[in-house]
Amino acid sequence: MLHTQGYAAMNAGAALEPFRFDRRAVGAYDVLINIRYCGICHSDIHQARDEWGGSIFPMVPGHEIVGDILQVGADVKKYHVGDNVGVGCFVDSCRTCGSCRDGLEQYCESGMILTYNGLDQQGAPTYGGYSKQIVVDENYLLRIPSSLSLEGTAPLLCAGITTYSPLKHWGVGKGHRLGVVGLGGLGHMAVKIGKALGAEVTVFSRFDAKRSDAERLGATEYVATEKEGSMAGLSGKFDFMIDTVSAAHDYNTYLDVLKRDGTMILVGAPSEPLPVLAFNLVLKRRRMVGSLIGGIRETQEMLDFCAEHNIPSDVEVIPIQQVNEAYERVLKGDVRYRFVIDLKSLEG
Ligand code: NAP
Ligand code: ZN
Ligand code: ZN
Repeated sequence: MLHTQGYAAMNAGAALEPFRFDRRAVGAYDVLINIRYCGICHSDIHQARDEWGGSIFPMVPGHEIVGDILQVGADVKKYHVGDNVGVGCFVDSCRTCGSCRDGLEQYCESGMILTYNGLDQQGAPTYGGYSKQIVVDENYLLRIPSSLSLEGTAPLLCAGITTYSPLKHWGVGKGHRLGVVGLGGLGHMAVKIGKALGAEVTVFSRFDAKRSDAERLGATEYVATEKEGSMAGLSGKFDFMIDTVSAAHDYNTYLDVLKRDGTMILVGAPSEPLPVLAFNLVLKRRRMVGSLIGGIRETQEMLDFCAEHNIPSDVEVIPIQQVNEAYERVLKGDVRYRFVIDLKSLEG
């Protein structure tokens, strides 16, 4: 066993606090990672507050992990001590089902093993990246491109892949109009990646406050959705919409702006069921689809794509002692555009 420390929520909705715990010893195919940075995803907040149900406590959140390798197991082939690596939302899967064989481990038919808030092969709880060290099988690691900063890369492990995967899957590119709903962690990566894929991007954000940021990130148009009449003239204009909103809101407004055969991609995950008017799909043969993060192979492809296009995440680096305050700011939409914890701040 390996003794380590981090920050945990001891029960649903509790403030995060210092927590000491054990990780498994480094096995033959494992590497031990010294965690340098970990992004704060809105999913961390949903789960720490048990908004999706079934949360396991104590919970050490964090699935946007980057660090360097301290130790490798005897049979590790692909990585060496000192390499910079990343860990995303899952750390294992069955490896034999159709989804795993297709490199789509996130859809593993036995269920992927989440980086935190999951149970490992031995039934022990998994703990995430708000901590000093983590032990992970080499097959579930990503290689960090040397041209990107470590802190700017951490959020790519979830926010980056969650937006890249569906945009690639549905063929978003040159000649397409893409709308991005919600300019937070996922939203700002959707703008950068959508633009890099060649699409013309419009941001749908509630207020005017993020207008100049949206332009800087690569959007050509901006709609402040809370403003009276802001959606006028947009009906039937978009090929794709990607909805990254974390809270209950009206999907129908955004279905209506799609063209015939347009696609609305849901990645935001509010916990409540939300009504969809059938006619918004039926009348123009539109479709509404969901997407969950991405597999290991595609996550590596996304990291290399972001390095090639020089599109790290825009981050605000914080010490771990400010994690609870950061959660409150995320909930207020007050983040430009991802908080990233510097794990050096964890003493001892
Ligand atoms: P985030 O940084 O908090 O961004 C969410 C954005 O949604 C906010 O910046 C805000 O944008 C908008 N928003 C918030 N509350 C709203 C409300 N009441 N009405 C309308 N808009 C609102 O969160 P994130 O980390 O990007 O995550 C977004 C969602 O995706 C979360 O539900 C998360 O759990 C989910 N997620 C899904 C996957 C997946 O695999 N599908 C992966 C990661 C995360 P504006 O200020 O611009 O309006
Ligand atoms: Zn996430
Ligand atoms: Zn599987």
